[in-house]
Amino acid sequence: MSAGLNLAQQEAVNYLHGPCLVLAGAGSGKTRVITHKIARLIQTGLEAKRIAAITFTNKAAAEMRERAKQLVGREAKDVLICTFHALGVRLMRQDGAVLGLKPQFSILDSDDVTSILKDAGGGTDVATARQWQWDISRWKNAGLNAAQAAAQAKDDHERMLATIMARYEERLAAYQSVDFDDLIGMPLKLLRDFPEVREKWQKALGHVLVDEYQDTNATQYELLKLLVGERGRFTAVGDDDQSIYGWRGATLDNLRKLPQEYPTLKVIKLEQNYRSTSAILRAANNVIQPNPKLFPKTLFSELGEGEPVRVVDCDNEEHEAERMVARIQSIRANGVHKDWKDFAVLYRANHQARVFEQALRKAQIPYKVSGGQSFFDRAEIRDLCGWLRLWVNNDDDPAFLRSVTTPKRGIGHQTLGSLGTFASQYKLSLFAALFSPSLPSVLNARALGSLQEFGRYVNDLEFRARHTVGAEAALAFLTEWLKDIGYEKHLYDGEDNEKVAAARWTNVLEFCDWMAKRCGGEIDDAAGVTTSSERKTLLEVAQTIALLSTISEREKDQNVVTLSTLHASKGLEWPHVVLAGCVEGMLPFKPEDEDGAVASESFVQRLQEERRLMYVGITRAQRSLAVSWSKKRKKGREMVVARPSRFIAEMSLDQSTTKEDPREKLKALRAEFAKKSADAAAAAAAQGSAA
Ligand code: ATP
Ligand code: MG
Repeated sequence: MSAGLNLAQQEAVNYLHGPCLVLAGAGSGKTRVITHKIARLIQTGLEAKRIAAITFTNKAAAEMRERAKQLVGREAKDVLICTFHALGVRLMRQDGAVLGLKPQFSILDSDDVTSILKDAGGGTDVATARQWQWDISRWKNAGLNAAQAAAQAKDDHERMLATIMARYEERLAAYQSVDFDDLIGMPLKLLRDFPEVREKWQKALGHVLVDEYQDTNATQYELLKLLVGERGRFTAVGDDDQSIYGWRGATLDNLRKLPQEYPTLKVIKLEQNYRSTSAILRAANNVIQPNPKLFPKTLFSELGEGEPVRVVDCDNEEHEAERMVARIQSIRANGVHKDWKDFAVLYRANHQARVFEQALRKAQIPYKVSGGQSFFDRAEIRDLCGWLRLWVNNDDDPAFLRSVTTPKRGIGHQTLGSLGTFASQYKLSLFAALFSPSLPSVLNARALGSLQEFGRYVNDLEFRARHTVGAEAALAFLTEWLKDIGYEKHLYDGEDNEKVAAARWTNVLEFCDWMAKRCGGEIDDAAGVTTSSERKTLLEVAQTIALLSTISEREKDQNVVTLSTLHASKGLEWPHVVLAGCVEGMLPFKPEDEDGAVASESFVQRLQEERRLMYVGITRAQRSLAVSWSKKRKKGREMVVARPSRFIAEMSLDQSTTKEDPREKLKALRAEFAKKSADAAAAAAAQGSAA
């Protein structure tokens, strides 16, 4: 088990009976400690299902499960490896009843929340609703409910917001729904206020491991404490220099408090970096140096000096994208790394991806944009899937609530609230409750009428979907249905920005085409349930939708270039990284807007977080790193003059080696030319053989 671990790592892996904190810089093998420790715990006899490992994203969880499987085999599948939010869902599904929650409660996404808040404000505009959403979320993360928020409100605005929050809470309860913050807040409440639930979970979990501990927030820390109890059998690993979610409430206090609240805490430091060359590591150490140190640490690498870090100066963003492509092509033409998946382009904000996407497409280089939204996560696609799920399974309450309110059909939240109370009283699904003979005693005739009409409509759709076979019939059916429910109008009404609405409608049409093709047997079932090319009924196809929405998690082995935001790149590594868009205003973000505030405390803190973001970016690279910036950048519709990020100077690179060699470009051109002639020859040969 100690294979591939240094002494300090082994110490962390073998320290089993008390609280343990591994505090170390990037690439020093913290995540590796977690996977090996899972294996070690199982080896010492702890049942796999009594181990919980908490990661920052679903993707990281999937990867950790894979690695654990390689170390201990099939048993690893019983380890609970998930995010804090997924753990919260599990707690609530099992024990949420004491808080009045049904096991199939729905989880609202951010768009759902916005529309509930719009409604709670009596038809507020989207921008205001989103601002409220943000403020309410902060209150919730600070552990406040609406009543407490009202009591603490400092001015009229806050009092108004507390009223909105009260209405919001009311609606969520009526819909048997929770938002993302509740996935942490409610389990915390469960464990804090119900001793029998707390004891059950503390007994059930023998050891809890937490990756990326520096990015936990105050409620997550409280939750962790309650989960592990006084024995404190946990292992947290983190790096204060990589704390990049302060803007979302993550707090380094969690790191500071740990030694005080657990006096027996074993603190282990790792100093060797196994990821990057010395040249890259030096740049990283230099950048982070100006930040105050919570825990001083020095990192070294034994992978050799390596290629110097390059700074790529560009005229504008298109030029920057071209040079990025040329760089990838030339590294591929010369080096050992021929796979597209060895390359990543990282940037500060999602919208920066577009120009790089265009350049990659032009060069016919395959890529994926991670950190963006997957098709199935889009609100409009989730709306449609909600309906499809309801046809397939009438008892899917979340799908019922989504469909009955999307688009609105005059059934208000009070009616739904009464229906919900009635259903949980008689232990019926919402749909089944519609046709219960006693429902008329709790609803007025009009409300009852609209609900039952909706129920009959769903039954009718289900019946017809069962008998709709083949692409053409399916497309006709879907088109008619969308017209029936007025979905296009609903999209345009719900968005202030017409372009956004149009894009959403295009997605809807694309989704319908894709469903239809599957009914026609033109596309195999991507979830692997069926593979025949037979024609299928629409209901059969709808049945596999839930499985399909997990496709995005299976994409990890694709051989493509990664485009990612810096935030989404956390914990990952690639042989070759381009850190793009390193200009003042983007990285660090917008400091020039605050000229007057340069010395303010919040400004200084924000700058420190931006510096950590740069540090995270630099330390993703294993072999080569290029930092690029352009002299002009788009700001809204205008082009403005840009300056290189102050962080480039802070890397203290050796001036004589930083500029990218112009000969590289020539090599790339040659490589491209060689590829084109090879393609042409291949095409000619193919034509020849066809003839
Ligand atoms: P980050 O701070 O970016 O999350 P980390 O500290 O979690 O980084 P890992 O991702 O666990 O670091 O490890 C970085 C790389 O070093 C991985 O490729 C890992 O396999 C490798 N590595 C870690 N420890 C060792 C070791 N003892 N021997 C060889 N390779 C190692
Ligand atoms: Mg890690």
